[in-house]
Amino acid sequence: MAEPGSAAEKVKQAADIVKVVGEYVPLRKAGVNMVGLCPFHSEKTPSFSVHPTRQIFHCFGCGEGGDVFQFVMMIENVTFPEALRQLAEKTGIRLQARAFEKEADDPKAKERAALYRLHEEAGKFFAEQMSASGEGRAARAYLADRGLTGPVISRFGLGYAPSSGQALTRYLVQSRIPPGTIELSGLLIAESGTGGKSRTYDRFRRRIIFPITNERGKVIAFAGRTLGGADASGPKYLNSPETPIYYKSRVLYNLSHAGQAIRKAEYAVLVEGYMDSIALASAGIENVVASCGTSLTENQVKLLARFARRVVVNFDPDAAGVRATERSLDLLLEEGFEVKVLELPDDLDPDGFVRQKGEAAYREELGRAPSYLDYLTDRAAREHDLESPEGKVAAVNAVLPRLARIPNRILRAETARRVAESLRIEERLVREEIDRAARERRPEVKVSAPKIQDEVSLAERQLLQILLENEELRKEFVPRIEESSLHRGLATEAIFEQLLQTDPGVEVDVSGVAERLGTEQQKLLYGILASTAGSPGRDEAESSWGWLWRRHLERRLQKLPEEMAQAQRNKEMERFKRLNDDKLKLHKELAKIKKLVRFSNKSIPSGGNL
Ligand SMILES: [Zn+2]
Repeated sequence: MAEPGSAAEKVKQAADIVKVVGEYVPLRKAGVNMVGLCPFHSEKTPSFSVHPTRQIFHCFGCGEGGDVFQFVMMIENVTFPEALRQLAEKTGIRLQARAFEKEADDPKAKERAALYRLHEEAGKFFAEQMSASGEGRAARAYLADRGLTGPVISRFGLGYAPSSGQALTRYLVQSRIPPGTIELSGLLIAESGTGGKSRTYDRFRRRIIFPITNERGKVIAFAGRTLGGADASGPKYLNSPETPIYYKSRVLYNLSHAGQAIRKAEYAVLVEGYMDSIALASAGIENVVASCGTSLTENQVKLLARFARRVVVNFDPDAAGVRATERSLDLLLEEGFEVKVLELPDDLDPDGFVRQKGEAAYREELGRAPSYLDYLTDRAAREHDLESPEGKVAAVNAVLPRLARIPNRILRAETARRVAESLRIEERLVREEIDRAARERRPEVKVSAPKIQDEVSLAERQLLQILLENEELRKEFVPRIEESSLHRGLATEAIFEQLLQTDPGVEVDVSGVAERLGTEQQKLLYGILASTAGSPGRDEAESSWGWLWRRHLERRLQKLPEEMAQAQRNKEMERFKRLNDDKLKLHKELAKIKKLVRFSNKSIPSGGNL
């Protein structure tokens, strides 16, 4: 991928992987490396590490790993040329069109690029309609009524979809957007009319348009809101359908604006609607994102976790949304978020509240918001009669399941104490119940580390590390490995094979080796590079060799009885005799190696899997 001297290599060097990853994952220093919670699997304790010197990342939990390009490709779900383009833009390195040739070859990437362009154009069209068209006047009046004027409208790119039903399509065609892309965007709807004729019209008509952007601020979809009034038709909000660049469940509205503010404030305000987040953000509460629906998805929670682990949830206070709200709150709790719940007075939604009472009043409410568990406890205490034993049991049971979901043990114990206090129950009882609930809790959905990685012994890692880093020892050990076929059948066989083919005495090009490996083996290689510490020398090389040689012999020995029995059954006496000789030789060899290893096993740290 990144050949020496190539444009990709230049970008790779300029884009420090720690900085790039740091924009997605909060990292902290651990020794020479940086660690954080893995963005590719769900976890509570960090097993994701980034190596500044080697410029690689690796997760010990799920086994993902690679260089900065692979990170961007995975987290953004894009192809290599797209990742290259993003990183080049970020580092200010100009690339020649040639660098993106592959992008043009990949139909999926081409499709996405076309869709981005379409949405940019459509956004311009809607904005123009809002500011300049006669029809747009009604939309402007509607927004002005809600306190949204010029600067806010342009900041959020708000637009207007005219009622004609053909205007956008005409505009896109004029802008030379291919018909296939227009169709793919879902901004055009086909309706079969009379006589089998189908006609098409714009999806959004007579609506205020909210562009939906990804975290990088690129428009990927639209939401349209009716202007209200008697002639409003259809649902209050209408969304773009899902496309190759828009997955509803992976988007948080306003995140491209709010991301930095959330990191700075170390918490996010989570609201339901577009208008809520726009109203709060324009009032000065910048760290606000909207879920665009009451049911948060796991993807949205993970997306948010990349910016902060604390959240104040301020959903609309309507009863219908309560269950969905609780599911969302539970999800946040399970992902290790510190969750607070804000209920605004007078049944106001965030938009209405901040418009009536202003930023300071809203901040005051934010400061007052109770933790989710305190909120639940208060509610349980209100809903049940704490004077009666039955009431107490019911109240505790309403809170316990959530309490058990708090992944952090200390926080859980502390919360249990508060719950017990509020419900006037002995703390011991609450704790016992939690422990039981924790035991009976459904097994956590966890991505287990690839088995293959468990099968890689320390000796294997060490020997590979030596081959990768120590030219002197590589010269010596390559012939020995080749001769003994020691690496055959190992999980890392393919990596060994690549290293055996590398010219002796020349520094190993790790990315080059990685490129010639399959995905699993690549992950393994990065895992080895990430996990090894220090520079093993001759002693370690010899003892690793010893351990691997021993395992190699033992495996062969294990297979012999079966083969010998087979030879006997088939009356192949020659073969039987040869196998028996092998057996004796293997035993002898093994005794020798065991003796050797006993003397030098200092250099194999414990936990060597052997
Ligand atoms: Zn992971």
